Amino acid sequence: MEARLTEIERNQVLQYLGYRGGGVSAEVEADIARCRAQLMAAAKPRAAWRLFSLTDDGALAGTSFVLQGQDIRLLLHDCTEVILLAATLGSEVERLIRRAQVSNMTDAVILDACGSAAIENVCDNLCADLAATFAPRYLTDRFSPGYGDMPLSQQAELFGVLDVTRRIGVSLSASGLMLPQKSVTALVGVADRPQKMRHRGCAACNLFENCAFRKEGSNCGAF
Ligand code: SF4
Repeated sequence: MEARLTEIERNQVLQYLGYRGGGVSAEVEADIARCRAQLMAAAKPRAAWRLFSLTDDGALAGTSFVLQGQDIRLLLHDCTEVILLAATLGSEVERLIRRAQVSNMTDAVILDACGSAAIENVCDNLCADLAATFAPRYLTDRFSPGYGDMPLSQQAELFGVLDVTRRIGVSLSASGLMLPQKSVTALVGVADRPQKMRHRGCAACNLFENCAFRKEGSNCGAF
């Protein structure tokens, strides 16, 4: 299964940039378009995944990785198996953003937002491919160490069990920072019945540009 970057969504980039609605100037649109193209050209997405059975006490069978926190237990409530996955845009994207941080801070901020939208796209594509692979069973949403009450310290365990560094070239610092930074790790449950999926967020909403809630800095409560 190959990692695929197919799109960097404009609305998602705007959301990462903190845009709250109203017009976007032609100049900003042009900057975003240029940075999107640069990032698409620099990205060399890679991904790894592995399926584990879940034991009754919330461990990944055959490992010492015991899932911590109520949130992940709740997500995997219907699941007997779990997929660990990791994905990255690669080190050239890291270099592109760092070069811009020295030469053009505006570009650096936009490139960073493009990178965040891009790694989301790679993960969405990977999960769509996994969903097709595991059909007719159902996948849960992605859940990453550090979300909710799952401690970030479990990131190191996930790295070890999935052999992330060797397989896709992402390293983990002592403070839990992934390098390249535009990388994601996650757990996805496999269940025998349909799973409730989270709201996909404002960037996917038709009201994104004119939403009165967003203009006030709040949201509609759908998520
Ligand atoms: S209606 Fe809700 S989901 Fe849509 S843009 Fe507004 S706050 Fe976001």
